[in-house]
Amino acid sequence: MRRFYTDPDELNKSEPRIKGNDARHMRTVLRMAAGDRVLLTDGTGRVCQARITAMEEQSVRVVIEKNLELKNESPLELVVAQGFLKDKKMDELLRHLTELGMTRWIPMVTQRTVARPDSGRMEKRIQRWESIAVEAIKQCGRTMVPAIDPLMNFSQVLDLYSSMDKSLFFWEEAKQPLDIDPDKKPASLLLVLGPEGGFTKDEARDASDKGFSIVSLGCRILRAETAAISACTLAQYLFGDLQKSP
Ligand code: SAH
Repeated sequence: MRRFYTDPDELNKSEPRIKGNDARHMRTVLRMAAGDRVLLTDGTGRVCQARITAMEEQSVRVVIEKNLELKNESPLELVVAQGFLKDKKMDELLRHLTELGMTRWIPMVTQRTVARPDSGRMEKRIQRWESIAVEAIKQCGRTMVPAIDPLMNFSQVLDLYSSMDKSLFFWEEAKQPLDIDPDKKPASLLLVLGPEGGFTKDEARDASDKGFSIVSLGCRILRAETAAISACTLAQYLFGDLQKSP
C-alpha cells in the first residue's frame, strides 16, 4: 500500500483530508479512486490504514480503517548539528540523515561556514527542509519526521552538551577514534560536524573544554556529507537499532 502524509490534526477528524502535493499526485499521476486503500502517516508516530471516499478538486477524502503499530523508529535520540554547507548540499544531507533515523537537525554557523543565509531566506529554507523530511520518511517507512531547528551558532550548540547523554565532536585533525563502552548506551546522542572548511583549533578546544569527546573518523579526510552520513550510520550501529541485541 502506498504511503501518504496528512497533518496530525486531520487524522483526528472523521473524514480526514489529504492535501497539497500528495493529493495532486494521487489524482493525476496514480489515478487513484474511491475505494482504494492507502497508508497515512502524520510524522508524529501515528500510521493508519485508510480507504479513499472521494477524490475532490484540491484534496482526497478518506476514512480510517485501522491504526497500525509500526516500530520503525530507532530507540536512539540522534541529534545532528551540521556546519552550514553551500548550495543544495544541506538539502541532500537532510534527506540522507532522515533515512538514517536522525531525530533532530540543527543547521549551525561556525567560524569557517561560508554560506550564512539571512533570517528571511532561512525561514524558506526550513519550510523546504520540512517537506524534504516528510518525503524522506514516506520513502523510507519511518513514522516520525525529524525536528528542524532554526540556525544556531557554535556556542549555542556547545550549550546543548548538558542536555544530552553523550556528545561527540568530529574533528578532521583528531587522533582519537571513537572509544565506546558497550555497557553504556546513551539514550540521546549529539553529533557535531563541520562545514566544508572544517573546524578551527579554537573550536575544537572550546568543545573539548565543554566536555565533548573529540573524535576522528579515520586518517582520511572525508567530505562533510560523507562524514555526517558515516557518523550517523556508526551511531545507529553502536547505540541504535543497526546491531543485533545481545
Ligand atoms: N577542509 C578540511 C576538511 C573538512 S571536512 C580539511 O581539508 O582539512 C568537514 C567536516 O567533516 C569536518 O569538520 C569534520 O566534522 C568531518 N570530518 C571529515 N573527515 C573527518 C575525519 N577523518 N575525522 C573526523 N571528522 C571528519
